[in-house]
Amino acid sequence: MEGYNVLKVLGEGSFGRALLVHHRISDQKYVMKEIRLPMSSSGVENSRKEAVLLAKMKHPNIVAFKESFEADGHLYIVMEYCDDGDLMQKIKHQGGNLFPEDTILHWFVQMCLAVKHIHDKRVLHRDIKSKNVFLTQSGKVKLGDFGSARLLAHPMSYACTYVGTPYYVPPEIWESLPYNNKSDIWSLGCILYELCTLKHPFQANSWKHLILKICKGSYDPLPSQYSYELHYLIKQMFKRNPQNRPSASTILARGCLTKLVKNCLPSEIANEFEQIVKETKKPEGNAARQKGSVMAGRSSNNKTENRQRKDESSKHSPLERKNAEGLSEDTREQRKSYQEVSASAVLPGSTDLSHAHRRQWEKKISNTVLDVLENASLLSSSFTPEETETSSCGLPGHKEVPLFPQFSERTVL
Ligand code: ADP
Ligand code: MG
Repeated sequence: MEGYNVLKVLGEGSFGRALLVHHRISDQKYVMKEIRLPMSSSGVENSRKEAVLLAKMKHPNIVAFKESFEADGHLYIVMEYCDDGDLMQKIKHQGGNLFPEDTILHWFVQMCLAVKHIHDKRVLHRDIKSKNVFLTQSGKVKLGDFGSARLLAHPMSYACTYVGTPYYVPPEIWESLPYNNKSDIWSLGCILYELCTLKHPFQANSWKHLILKICKGSYDPLPSQYSYELHYLIKQMFKRNPQNRPSASTILARGCLTKLVKNCLPSEIANEFEQIVKETKKPEGNAARQKGSVMAGRSSNNKTENRQRKDESSKHSPLERKNAEGLSEDTREQRKSYQEVSASAVLPGSTDLSHAHRRQWEKKISNTVLDVLENASLLSSSFTPEETETSSCGLPGHKEVPLFPQFSERTVL
């Protein structure tokens, strides 16, 4: 705490408090998270690991880590202060006026760059939501809140609960399947949808209906003023099968976004990004061959999906069609990364995740979800008054609600 003056309390979470502080030497404002350290030594070790992890995230679109230290049973994490609020506030302040598409894409591309950065480092955020995306007055967007609360939870709740905001929780979590990099993509899709409609894609007045909506992947279409690109991106990011969702790199390689990346990044990172795009966009023949081999390993459902994609793309220009085709396929590198994440995150007792996984997604709503919906008394009730605290856009509140005991933490960091 030495060297810092506390200016105000920004908020309180399950972990402790977030303070706005002034650093006397640099004459700069920072956010300081004051986290209560758990009693057990393994819990403390986990907290420290998390601080180390945060320190490794160095990217213009990720809230910068300054330092961390421990004092009086607390861990303090000092990070960059974003002086223009968060995306959730921005959405509320719109009062129903839709954002221009340029603004949405300008924010979205920065969020994708942040997600790409963390995924490249094999880190899963697991709590991507508009409230955790911060803004600066210079127009930068920064992903923050790297889940220290999650790692610092009581050891039992750490093992047995998934802490997240239910609106952003992807179908695979409700299905008791492992969280993976594509689960973050689903949540990112929820933010993109919110930016386009000022509403959550999946809303309901009870747990049961919320889960059913998420697991069916049913959402209202976007306002027609938005381009095919935005409609298409959202459709891809809301694929029920995580494997069919694009990775952050694949999204960024889309023509409409690559142009924007240059404006968002310092030149050295922009050059590195161009290189990645080149690698992602394989020559035609090569791409076709790769595609064949990927499809051979996938379920027959993809045939229908491909046919749908063809029908859809026939309505659009060749460039749009080319982009649309590229989006559904990951590069070899991304597929490898996905498999590695899956392999180390397999369900206990599951020997062949890829097959189990495929079978799971062939069904409409899995038995797991239906069992949960039938058996959990919590689900038959409506949201509690605390949970239904509504925002200006009529949404039940963005409270973090611990979910069900069977949803255990399986993230690979
Ligand atoms: P929670 O999400 O549980 O409220 P956070 O630590 O994410 O906990 O945030 C606590 C409060 O501090 C919130 O009001 C949030 O908007 C604010 N906050 C967190 N990090 C930053 C940051 N880097 N810049 C500005 N405000 C922040
Ligand atoms: Mg937060």
